[in-house]
Amino acid sequence: MPDPLKTIALRIDGKAFAVTLRARIGAAAADFAHAVARRPGLAVVLVGDDAASQVYVGAKARACEEAGIASFEHRLPAATSGAELLTLVERLNRDPEVDGILVQLPLPEGLDEQAVIAAIDPDKDVDGFHVINAGRLAVGQQGFVPCTPLGCLMLLQDHHGDLSGLEAVVIGRSNIVGKPMAQLLTDANATVTLAHSRTKNLAEVVRRADIVVAAVGRPEMVRGDWIKPGATVIDVGINRLPPTDDKPKGRLVGDVAYAEAAEVAGAITPVPGGVGPMTIAVLLRNTLVAAHRHAGLEPPEGL
Ligand code: NAD
Repeated sequence: MPDPLKTIALRIDGKAFAVTLRARIGAAAADFAHAVARRPGLAVVLVGDDAASQVYVGAKARACEEAGIASFEHRLPAATSGAELLTLVERLNRDPEVDGILVQLPLPEGLDEQAVIAAIDPDKDVDGFHVINAGRLAVGQQGFVPCTPLGCLMLLQDHHGDLSGLEAVVIGRSNIVGKPMAQLLTDANATVTLAHSRTKNLAEVVRRADIVVAAVGRPEMVRGDWIKPGATVIDVGINRLPPTDDKPKGRLVGDVAYAEAAEVAGAITPVPGGVGPMTIAVLLRNTLVAAHRHAGLEPPEGL
């Protein structure tokens, strides 16, 4: 018998939020093009033939075109040397049509990712991976924030409004998700714990949280009984389970056991359809902001 008192969490629809955000970006990109007689431009560099990266780069280019942002794709062979790649990045740094530069990671073995990221003009670094932008975020200066954590913050602020005084636990301390997420939540006045692989009693730490952000990369690691009743759960994880007869490609799951957690949480993002669609929308948003700053214009409010 189903328990009639059991609550089912509100499903935070990142896909719908991203559609709305992309429409606002499209309108603002059209205003920009009208004002400066060119579209905002994003250069995407892909080295090698990694299948997943090909799909991501294609999706980013399509999303740009849909939003009225020019996309300049540079697909280079896996044998490209570090010097050739740096020459391209330097050319894009100087190109007045290019407002944002994204080098798709991971790079093929033998290419130094840190050196390539360091070569990108920080004011065109729309991924927010350059140490200058990490530093700007750390000290509260204007820069670029990595797309995935910024998308998570947007979903949280849309759901909660003010995050002041809320207990937030971020699981995972990567440079692209966990660390910037913890900084963004701190700046939004939440009380933040950054948990990671060496955290003791992780379940108990998570049970304190009004907000849980899971960015671990371990399928369904966060269980329903780790969640404080009514908490908001943001699941960043994208994990593909081994193929089964009914799912020959393997099912996609997050880092949170969704069905269990949804019985306890107040609100939760699904996988897919939660954080994932926000990442590309925020990439477009960062490119639009870069274009405005590049042209000496104030970026539009509320993006
Ligand atoms: P990462 O591997 O760089 O970092 C994982 C973090 O999890 C590490 O800091 C590690 O300390 C922590 N961790 C590992 N095992 C743990 C454990 N047992 N307990 C607690 N912490 C543990 O990963 P990442 O790049 O931050 O990505 C995390 C997940 O988010 C992955 O599933 C990735 O695919 C996904 N992701 C999704 C998007 C998106 O657009 N939705 C974007 C980036 C990453």
